[in-house]
Amino acid sequence: MIVAIDGPAGSGKSTVARIIARDCRLSFLDTGAMYRTVTWACLERGVDLSRDEDIAAVARDIVITFGATATGQTVACDGADVTDAIRTAEVDRNVSRVSAVPAVREAMVAQQRALSQAGDVVAEGRDIGTVVFPNADVKVFLVASAESRARRRAIQRAGGNAATGNVVDVDKSEFQQILADIVRRDELDSSRDASPLRAAADAVTIDTSDLTLDEVVGRVHDLVDQVGGAR
Ligand code: C5P
Repeated sequence: MIVAIDGPAGSGKSTVARIIARDCRLSFLDTGAMYRTVTWACLERGVDLSRDEDIAAVARDIVITFGATATGQTVACDGADVTDAIRTAEVDRNVSRVSAVPAVREAMVAQQRALSQAGDVVAEGRDIGTVVFPNADVKVFLVASAESRARRRAIQRAGGNAATGNVVDVDKSEFQQILADIVRRDELDSSRDASPLRAAADAVTIDTSDLTLDEVVGRVHDLVDQVGGAR
């Protein structure tokens, strides 16, 4: 069973994908973490981000591995833990540039397919239903207004979690900054030539703006049930 969950930044993909993976005993693949790791490695190595070939060389050189802890998933680059390092504002600012390089995408998609060879996976990203797993059993495209996505991210950065009702106060200028970054990243991810962010023709689009996490998860579970997936 392959479940593909795509959508723009902050649409709730990771949270939903993790829950579906846990409930259906499927593995979980966060492809955004892979593009973030390539970006982090480029920044670490001082790579000139205007040079596609230099970025691609990093993507082909590094070894990205996932691990699991009691609190969630970890990501390593050449054995060094980068779980937190790939979530900085600097990586946010540069990841869309790095992920637009076709050779980077080729290298990542090959690894994503290899990591999912056993087949039972919930993969989340931008091009899972269109490119990585065009034959996925379930394809979901999550959308939400830019404001509600920015609000969720801002709450997350401030130590809360909107999905579980743990809503904390958010600094107004930080919110504006996150909103601007999300709008910019969506624009870059949607307009690039290589595997742009878009829903597959056979994907089910769910607008999460006014839905609770349980409601979104319930709808995805219904889709998994329809194709005979087990809980
Ligand atoms: O999902 P997340 O926000 O962590 O993804 C970070 C960035 O990685 C996206 O803004 C996009 O540029 C890139 N990405 C991608 N294709 C994917 C997953 C992520 O281009 N499948």
